[in-house]
Amino acid sequence: MSQPRPLVAGNWKMNGLSASLQEVKTLAGRLKANDTIAAQVMICPPATLLAALSTELEGSKILTGGQDCHAETSGAHTGDIAAEMLADAGAGAVIVGHSERRADHGETSENVRAKAQAAYRAGLTAIICIGETQTQRKRGDALKVVSAQLSGSLPGAATSENTVIAYEPVWAIGTGLTPTLEDVGEVHSHIRAELAGRLGEGEAAGLRILYGGSVKPGNAAELMGVANVDGALVGGASLKADDFWAIVSVYAASHTMG
Ligand code: PEP
Repeated sequence: MSQPRPLVAGNWKMNGLSASLQEVKTLAGRLKANDTIAAQVMICPPATLLAALSTELEGSKILTGGQDCHAETSGAHTGDIAAEMLADAGAGAVIVGHSERRADHGETSENVRAKAQAAYRAGLTAIICIGETQTQRKRGDALKVVSAQLSGSLPGAATSENTVIAYEPVWAIGTGLTPTLEDVGEVHSHIRAELAGRLGEGEAAGLRILYGGSVKPGNAAELMGVANVDGALVGGASLKADDFWAIVSVYAASHTMG
């Protein structure tokens, strides 16, 4: 299988009010005016903005996604959102297993796998996040942790069509710190090999593995230029059209990869 089409996804986390839709309108306008961007572009806003954003982006090149979902279809789960509801609001994907969900809500890899299965059930792509803490990296356990999270979180029904993996070292999220390019390359090739063991070489080659953690306009080209990095999951720098556009532009035909 040939190299997958890159994906640059913005995770707005608990940020954004109606006025923020203007940032996305700006972004959609730039994408429309520049048809050389090879990457798919996605925004995962807070649930309150998902329907409005999806409507706003109809007919544009930007996809929308949720930030989490419940494993069940419906029921007595106050405050939770089913994958079907995200799809109904216009989402094409959902992030599951973000480290903030794993840490703040005690989500285990088993929970994450059930959520990814719910995403498939609703016809959504599951963006499954994995990554080590700083203590785990310092201990030399990064690959071991990533392997365990991947094997626990990835459903048996995963394919290159319905799943994206996001490698996000916990210590790099929102801190301005990033791993060395060598370390990023090592983890991504390790994930690719693990996927090949699970899904077969062909399927694994087509499954996108994103890097996430302090991706900014200034470091995006070099990070996206690492082998087996098929795009980015971007938090803080996805909130402003100018910053996110600069990251997406790494995939413009005229841009030379770092
Ligand atoms: C994230 O939350 O997925 C993320 C990568 O955040 P940031 O880009 O702000 O580090």
